[in-house]
Amino acid sequence: MYTVRPIPNSNRSSPMPPRTTPRRLADELADAAAAYQASVVIPHCPQCSNSCCRLDPLVLELEWKQVRTFWRIEEPRATFDRRLATGQGPQEIRAANGLYYAHGKPCPAFNEATASCSVYGQPIKPAGCSDFPVYEDGGVIVADLRCEAVDRKALTAWIAQALGEGFRVAWSADPEFPFLITISLKKAKRST
Ligand code: SF4
Ligand code: SF4
Repeated sequence: MYTVRPIPNSNRSSPMPPRTTPRRLADELADAAAAYQASVVIPHCPQCSNSCCRLDPLVLELEWKQVRTFWRIEEPRATFDRRLATGQGPQEIRAANGLYYAHGKPCPAFNEATASCSVYGQPIKPAGCSDFPVYEDGGVIVADLRCEAVDRKALTAWIAQALGEGFRVAWSADPEFPFLITISLKKAKRST
């Protein structure tokens, strides 16, 4: 459910950017988030008591090709859109801004018997599925505590350890959606 960034090649002729550049830090945060997903979240998924793939309360953002594939739609997109607009389409799908949003019923790609994603590792898998529940965005880590595998304290400690000395890790909750937390880094003050 995640992507792993390539490890920078230290033999390249151009020097590595300093560690504190925003891009380099963002890459390190993305790596730390991916490692947390791989080590903590994904191993828990098969025994999760409230899988995110049931799309309740989560909303899944989809492109047309994903809607067409998952719901096995054979008609042209325009026909499907008309059906959807008149309430004749799948009730769990809403269309907006050229995308589709599914909510309230399990994702058709979710295999209830094995509690697993049937398109795992395939290009058709929505990007949001790979990001959930912990991802880097604009130089901070965003985590969704609705995933029962995510523990705020443990995740904060994980990020602090991954980034090493020199940074202070702070977190805050979204005022409107308190289950969404942001973990950011500040340079630690040097003791004199
Ligand atoms: S909510 Fe979390 S633990 Fe449960 S299936 Fe989704 S990612 Fe896995
Ligand atoms: S595509 Fe896979 S990971 Fe995403 S909601 Fe559906 S079953 Fe879950």
